[in-house]
Amino acid sequence: MTWPPLREELRGIEPYGAPQLDVPVALNVNENPYPPSAAVVADIAAAVTDAAATLNRYPDREFTELRKGLAEYLNADGGRGIGPDQVWAANGSNEVMLHLLQAFGGPGRTAVSFAPTYSMYPEYARDAMTAWVAGRRHEDFAFDLEHAHEVIDEHRPSVVLLPSPNNPTGTALPHDVIGTLCTMLSGHGGEDGLVVIDEAYAEFRREGTPSALELLGDHRNLVVTRTMSKAFALAGARLGYLAAAPEICDALRVVRLPYHLSAVTQATASAALRHADELLANVAELRAERDRTVAWLRERGFEVADSDANFCLFGRFDDRHAVWEGLLHRGVLIRETGPDGWLRVSIGTAEEMAAFRAALLEVAS
Ligand SMILES: *Cc1c(COP(=O)(O)O)cnc(C)c1O
Repeated sequence: MTWPPLREELRGIEPYGAPQLDVPVALNVNENPYPPSAAVVADIAAAVTDAAATLNRYPDREFTELRKGLAEYLNADGGRGIGPDQVWAANGSNEVMLHLLQAFGGPGRTAVSFAPTYSMYPEYARDAMTAWVAGRRHEDFAFDLEHAHEVIDEHRPSVVLLPSPNNPTGTALPHDVIGTLCTMLSGHGGEDGLVVIDEAYAEFRREGTPSALELLGDHRNLVVTRTMSKAFALAGARLGYLAAAPEICDALRVVRLPYHLSAVTQATASAALRHADELLANVAELRAERDRTVAWLRERGFEVADSDANFCLFGRFDDRHAVWEGLLHRGVLIRETGPDGWLRVSIGTAEEMAAFRAALLEVAS
């Protein structure tokens, strides 16, 4: 007799999550290290106070005002004429991803990604009873279109999930790869498969790196997800969103829980959007700090993957766990993730990165 009566495939599985440790320098979950300013805090607090006065009622199920704000924001960052009916939001882009798999995956269907890729995807696939297949990337983490073609032909996925910039490598996808994937997936067995480009880190992309939002008008099966958790410095609010064809957004309404975005969440996110410029003000500094970190690591002989994100993957270490632990002993928490031999460090403030460099020099010597 097994207790509790858990689904067979969930037995013995540990809940996923990066260690939440109390350390002086936390560079492990790609947060924006800069807290909101006093002015932004005051405006969010005022918006939440207004919302609090209505908390006896259920919130706006269609989050109308928030959708308008998100569409406007996207149109200022690569989107072209995206309307509120092309926007969907949920409690973090992780929930957006789960909605996508609940609606477009399911029993008898397959979701595909190409490793190294975001480690949460297989968990959502499992939770949505969707088969999971991971192909691979090139040795240098570039996308291998030929291999992707083979995997897609063999498995005929209903959803392909790809972060761009990729987590954990930082690699962005070129437009022609995204366009080719959308074409490959369209009309597959009479049905379109969706290509989901997870742009959680899009705001950190380097000069000249495009956003998949620019391609939305060309491919009805393209979905671009974003989040307020990273560049937007709002991880604690839990707000993720996507842009896609109106039919796709409409379908997601079927699987969401009733009133899934609380009045407090909607008020917080809408207030934050009104301060987008301010909240994003540190992105330029973080990008510069990222480029400095990559250069510094390379000068010291480390291998570093090119990064369009607010983190970098570096190595290689015979015993990466020992390096991770050595840094932790010196008060610097990074992430033991990615292919064996590599570690990932999020970009923090200049002081935090100085602490990281000093600790790494000690540990590596
Ligand atoms: C951090 C991250 C997200 C964001 O998750 P939220 O639920 O929006 O906080 C999404 N995708 C990837 C690849 C990430 O690294």
